[in-house]
Amino acid sequence: MWTLVLNSGSSSLKFAVLDPASGETRLSGLAERLGAEAASMRLDVAGPGEGGRRQTHALNGGSYAEAMRLVLAELETLGLRSEVRAVGHRVVHGGSRFSAPATITPEVLGAIRDCVPLAPLHNPANIAGIEAAMNAFPELPQVAVFDTAFHQTLPEVAYRYAVPEAWFTQHGVRRYGFHGISHSFVAGEAARMLGRPLSGLNLITAHLGNGCSVCAVAGGRSVGTSMGLTPLEGLVMGTRSGDVDPGLHDYLARVSGLTLTQITAALNRESGLLALSGLTNDMRELEEAAARGHVGARLAVEIFAYRLAQGMASMAVALGRVDGVVFTGGIGENSASVRAATLARLPFLGLELDVAANAAAVHGQGGSIGAPDRLPALVVNTNEEWMIARETAGLLTPTAQ
Ligand code: ADP
Repeated sequence: MWTLVLNSGSSSLKFAVLDPASGETRLSGLAERLGAEAASMRLDVAGPGEGGRRQTHALNGGSYAEAMRLVLAELETLGLRSEVRAVGHRVVHGGSRFSAPATITPEVLGAIRDCVPLAPLHNPANIAGIEAAMNAFPELPQVAVFDTAFHQTLPEVAYRYAVPEAWFTQHGVRRYGFHGISHSFVAGEAARMLGRPLSGLNLITAHLGNGCSVCAVAGGRSVGTSMGLTPLEGLVMGTRSGDVDPGLHDYLARVSGLTLTQITAALNRESGLLALSGLTNDMRELEEAAARGHVGARLAVEIFAYRLAQGMASMAVALGRVDGVVFTGGIGENSASVRAATLARLPFLGLELDVAANAAAVHGQGGSIGAPDRLPALVVNTNEEWMIARETAGLLTPTAQ
């Protein structure tokens, strides 16, 4: 049985067809610049051994519907059309309503739409992807898997902000947290690598991609996380500022004449590593530039690691006892220097780097990077598509999981 997993962004559609039990992927791809003249879609068909093929198709201004038609046509070519049993969608914001995946009904779709004010950049794209998939695969069950759901176990002490209560009760101002699909996946993998049941482990997980967040996972449940009402809070990210003084908006509006919308846009798209380095939001390029002596790049990497270490230490408060830390996402899985700089700031948690193991844990080679007899530090490759497929299959056939 195969599951089609869809992750739709504002002008992109990432998809994979995989076996929820094993994670084996038969077909995957990415459509980009949807709606623009240059729209295109890359398809990767897995083959036996090193086999397989990659194709790129022009979509000629096409949007989600055209991209879905190509996925459907390729499934038919591969003879897989009738073997796909469900479609799993990544949905960024499920508000307080969703603490688990949900089969998409008109009512559930309405609830996802109700969360648009909380995630105006993400939920509309997710809805467009769901509607395109419902048209292309009307007979298949469609399941929403939420990035926020994992964090619905946060205790009140972790999710409430110290703001007027009416903002919370009337407008839902609270910490929701994001990247839950990845945090829960890597926590499970880490338990497997440590040879211990997840139910007895207290882990700090750091998902470091273009967006970055840390999570405190106690017995497989999220009890603390750095992202909040929106994915802007917390760590320094590629182009997002992370934490700033909440007084910044008022001050800047007065002294610069920028509007609130402009300030928020700049904090989302022109800040973070990009702003600190004056160069790029891409960590790989920053490391190369820092090695060549670029001052801004060095500062950006240093501040990134400093704020990440602070974030990880704050998750220790949520956990009380820490049994291990986990790095994942493009930066976490590949940047030995960020991991080294971060762990160097956390000796009081019992963390110490194994330099050789850290240098070897790159390019998809996860593993242990902590010194022997110290607190375990792991690099785990995340696989959000597989997690979404598992959650989708688990909801539809609970006994199979
Ligand atoms: P997304 O959040 O878009 O899924 P990724 O998880 O792919 O992003 O992470 C992207 C980040 O990972 C970028 O900053 C990129 O530079 C970084 N990255 C990828 N490979 C390496 C590498 N070999 N060394 C350092 N950073 C890397």
